[in-house]
Amino acid sequence: MSEAKRARVPRRPRPGINRDNSFFWEGLKEDKLLIQRCQTCGELRHPPGPMCPHCHSLEWDTLKACGRGTIYSYVNLHHPAVPPFANPNPIGLIELEEGTRLVAGLLDIEADEVRIGQPVEVVFYREQEDDDHAIALFRVTDKSAEAA
Ligand SMILES: [Zn+2]
Repeated sequence: MSEAKRARVPRRPRPGINRDNSFFWEGLKEDKLLIQRCQTCGELRHPPGPMCPHCHSLEWDTLKACGRGTIYSYVNLHHPAVPPFANPNPIGLIELEEGTRLVAGLLDIEADEVRIGQPVEVVFYREQEDDDHAIALFRVTDKSAEAA
């Protein structure tokens, strides 16, 4: 894509990075999906925060998630249309195999094809090849699957 054309294509907004969540974004740069884990009680939590909501511990480390899960719930955003996002824009609440959930955009699927229970896998998505950051999107690996 030429520089001139590139400049006209709307970009996704960049994530808000702070000291609580920077590990998550640094992990994505290295194609790792890192989930915050309480070092006291072992509870996983996302989005990241300074304190365990379960036991109030401030001690934490991270677990590298396998990147597989299922669609626990989803929404298809219809209004307003916001380029470069699809319209409608399917957004999943992903239940990871490790047990915690996160909200993420769904790739390569039409809004009317999304179903609760479909298996998904993470995609470390870079909008442009030379992006200095990545985001976690999820791709449905079996569109015929549905919750039992
Ligand atoms: Zn805890």
